Amino acid sequence: MSKIILSGVKPTGRPHIGNYFGAMKQFVDLQNKLASGDHNFIMIADYHGLNFIHDQATMRENTLNLAIDYLAIGIDPVKSTIFKQSDVSAHTELGWIFNTITTMPYLMRAHAFKDAEAKNKEISVGAFDYPMLMAADILLYNTDIVPVGQDQKQHVEYARDTALKFNHIFKTETFKLPDVLTIEGVAVVPGTDGQKMSKSYGNTIGLFATREEITKAVMGIVTDSGSDVPKNVYAMHRLLKSEAELAPLYEANKGKYKALKDALVEDIDAFIKPMRERREELARDIDKVHAVLAEGAIKARAQADMKLAEVKKVIGVL
Ligand code: AMP
Repeated sequence: MSKIILSGVKPTGRPHIGNYFGAMKQFVDLQNKLASGDHNFIMIADYHGLNFIHDQATMRENTLNLAIDYLAIGIDPVKSTIFKQSDVSAHTELGWIFNTITTMPYLMRAHAFKDAEAKNKEISVGAFDYPMLMAADILLYNTDIVPVGQDQKQHVEYARDTALKFNHIFKTETFKLPDVLTIEGVAVVPGTDGQKMSKSYGNTIGLFATREEITKAVMGIVTDSGSDVPKNVYAMHRLLKSEAELAPLYEANKGKYKALKDALVEDIDAFIKPMRERREELARDIDKVHAVLAEGAIKARAQADMKLAEVKKVIGVL
């Protein structure tokens, strides 16, 4: 049985190592294990990003940057389809169809909405409705597996529920139920302050950060005085090395936070450097990046339009 994988990232800023270890690394690992007949769709979720970015230049720049980032981490446009969500209008169209079978109280139970409410944040209708657009993103491609970080797990459950609901209402088997894939241990990558690493908390380490940026961020990691092992430093180190590899370093440097942070800077930089250099090279040929997106749009549209036509017949508008 062929397998279909789909995931995406919002172009809302520079990706950080939380995005990478929580989700993006899996895009590459799964791509490199594809069998014949399998498909890997990697999306730039610009219409989701539009809930947070209302500036033309920023949107353009972030979108292009994210396409370069995908290529730099090893997503191969020959093996995977890299595309922009807004290039495939079937996403918003199916999102609308799902809106008509979805209730407000159901969407009000979403963590993202509840968090925004608890913080008294004003939330756009688009952000409130995020799970329905994401359900459309996933279900248009008959997706089997959605590799994401912990914070997106509930949204994949919404996609499953919506598929079941649609199939039930219209007495059909149009939609396949997708499964979520999170990686044990890194489903939530902590930031420099110990909270979840997030663009909105200012506690990130950029995935393509320079050595200076890495040093600044690592030196700012909050340490809990009094313990031999600084928890937040160790948690970040564990992304890069096994317990066994780290044991001698932490044993030899008990309570020496500065030395441990220096070692962490070294390890993060050694890990990021090859990707950073690859990215610099890719950024020199923007035409090629645009060509990847144009080709991805054609491939994604072919699948999505076919599925949308099937849905339109089922609901009786075609
Ligand atoms: P975003 O586009 O910001 O929603 O995030 C892209 C992907 O990164 C999603 O799959 C998120 O679940 C994942 N992600 C974001 N922050 C973290 C984190 N701190 N730890 C693990 N995964 C994360």
